[in-house]
Amino acid sequence: MSRRGSWLARFLLTGLLPILGLALLAWISQGPAWAWAVAALGFAVLACVHARQLVALLAWLDAPEKRAFPHAGGAWGEVLGKLSERLRDDRRGRQEVEATLHSFRGAMDAVPDGLVIVDASHRIHWSNRAAGAHLGIHLPRDSGVIIEHLVRTPGFAEYLASPDVHSPFVLQAPAARTRIYTIRVVPLGDANKLLVSLDVTDARRVESMRSTFVANVSHELRTPLTVVRGFLEYFTDDGVVDGEQRQQFARLMSDQTARMLTLVDDLLTLSRLEAEDAPASEEDVDMASLLAQLQAEGESLSDGRHRLDVTCRGPALRGNRKELHSAFGNLVSNAIRYTPAGGEIAIEWAMHEGVGVFSVRDSGVGVAAEHLPRLTERFYRVDRGRSRDTGGTGLGLAIVKHILLRHQASLSIDSEVGAGSTFRAAFPDWRLPAAK
Ligand code: ADP
Repeated sequence: MSRRGSWLARFLLTGLLPILGLALLAWISQGPAWAWAVAALGFAVLACVHARQLVALLAWLDAPEKRAFPHAGGAWGEVLGKLSERLRDDRRGRQEVEATLHSFRGAMDAVPDGLVIVDASHRIHWSNRAAGAHLGIHLPRDSGVIIEHLVRTPGFAEYLASPDVHSPFVLQAPAARTRIYTIRVVPLGDANKLLVSLDVTDARRVESMRSTFVANVSHELRTPLTVVRGFLEYFTDDGVVDGEQRQQFARLMSDQTARMLTLVDDLLTLSRLEAEDAPASEEDVDMASLLAQLQAEGESLSDGRHRLDVTCRGPALRGNRKELHSAFGNLVSNAIRYTPAGGEIAIEWAMHEGVGVFSVRDSGVGVAAEHLPRLTERFYRVDRGRSRDTGGTGLGLAIVKHILLRHQASLSIDSEVGAGSTFRAAFPDWRLPAAK
C-alpha cells in the first residue's frame, strides 16, 4: 500500500469509520435515539481531537522558536511526522547555505583588496574587511550609506559617476595620508557597481626609491664626467696647454676617473649585497689579523695625520672575512676622513655583556642628532662638500648596514658635534664560538 493509502486507512480506521458505521446502523435499523446520540457524541469527540491538534499546530506555527513541535498519534502523527521531516530537511539546507555564506564571507575578508558593492544610487550594499582599512567603510554601520558621503576625496564622486576603465582613481588614505590606494569600478549586473581598491603604497615607494636612486647615481657621475670633459676640450687644441699644465690636467682627470671607479665599485658591492640574502661562505675570522690589516690601511689613508690606537680583546668572529673587512674598513676610513689632522682614532674588538662589539671611536667633526637616523641611507651626507673632498661616495654606511644585517649584527652611533663619534657593531654570541 502506498504511504498516502496507509495514512488514509489509519485515519478511517481510528476515527471516522467506526462512527460512520454506528450512524449507519442507527439509520438502517430506525434505531433508538440513544444510537443517534452515541454517533453524534462520537463525531463531537472526533471533531475535538482534530481541533486540539489543529490548535496545537497553529500555535506552533505562530511561534516555532518558543514552542515545542506538537506530537500526536494516529493520522495526525503521520502528518506531523512528515511535516517535521520537511522542516529538518529545510533546516539542514539552510545550515548548509549559511555555512557556505560564512566561508565565502571569510574568503572575501581574507582578500587583501578592498571590495565594495554599491547600487544605482551608490548606496553601500556590502563590503569586505580590507575596504574598512582602505576606505573607512565598516558594515553593518555603513550599510545603505551613500559611498560619496564616506569617501570625500576630491574627484572621487566624479570618477564614480563615469569611471575610466584604463586608469584607476588614486586615493591617499584619509587618516594619515601615508598610504596610497587605487580604485577601479567594475559594473555588476544591471545597475550595481563593484569597487575594487588596491594598496599600492609599497609599489609606489619602490618606484620612487628607484627613480631617486637613478637620479642620485646620475648626479654623482655627472660631476666628474663634466670635469673630465672640460679638460679634454683643452687637449683638443694642442697649442693652448703646455707640458706642465698637461700633466696637471692629466692628474686631475685621473682623480675624477678614480672617483667614478670608486662609486661604481660601491654600487656593485651594494647590488651584490642586495641580491643575496646571506654571505656565500663563513669562517672563524681571526680578529687580531683583521684588525692589524685595518690598522695598516688606516695608517696609509691617514698618512701620519692621526694617532691610531688598536685593541683586540675578543675571540674569533664567525662570518665572511671579505664582507667584515669591507664593513669595518668603511668605519675606519670614515673616522679618518671626518677627523681633522692631529685627532685620535681608537679601533677595538672586545666582549661587552656577552656580545662581541667592534667599535671605532674618533675625535672628529661629529654628527648632529637629527642626522643620525638617516646616516645609513644611500647617498645621505651631512656635509656633501666634505664627503666629496675626502673621496666619499655616500654609500659607505649603506654598505656597512647591509653587511651587518647579513651577520645579524646591529649598528649604534653615538656622536656629538665637534667632539667626535663612536660607531659600534654588536654581534650575537652564537657568532663567537670561542667565547663559550
Ligand atoms: P661618505 O662616503 O659620504 O662618507 P658614508 O655613507 O660613509 O658616506 O657616510 C654618510 C655620512 O655620514 C657622511 O657623509 C658623513 O656626513 C657622516 N659620517 C660618517 N662617518 C662619520 C664620522 N666618523 N664622523 C662624522 N661624520 C660621519
